[in-house]
Amino acid sequence: MQERVPVQYLRIDMLRIAERRRIYEAKIDAVQHYATNQELCRTQSLVSYFGESDATPCGVCDICLKKNPAA
Ligand SMILES: [Zn+2]
Repeated sequence: MQERVPVQYLRIDMLRIAERRRIYEAKIDAVQHYATNQELCRTQSLVSYFGESDATPCGVCDICLKKNPAA
């Protein structure tokens, strides 16, 4: 339990709020890209989100199956 801070002493860090918003929007963009992407393997897309770039196509996602329907 803490005493409520009077409004005149309330400080809001707008830079921190803007930074949190930017990060949140980047996450939303990544999810949107993952969902709408029609070219890059889903596994490769996920791996690249986490900073890796050396994943091979999985061969079983919808994108891979569309590129190689015989698999
Ligand atoms: Zn794939």
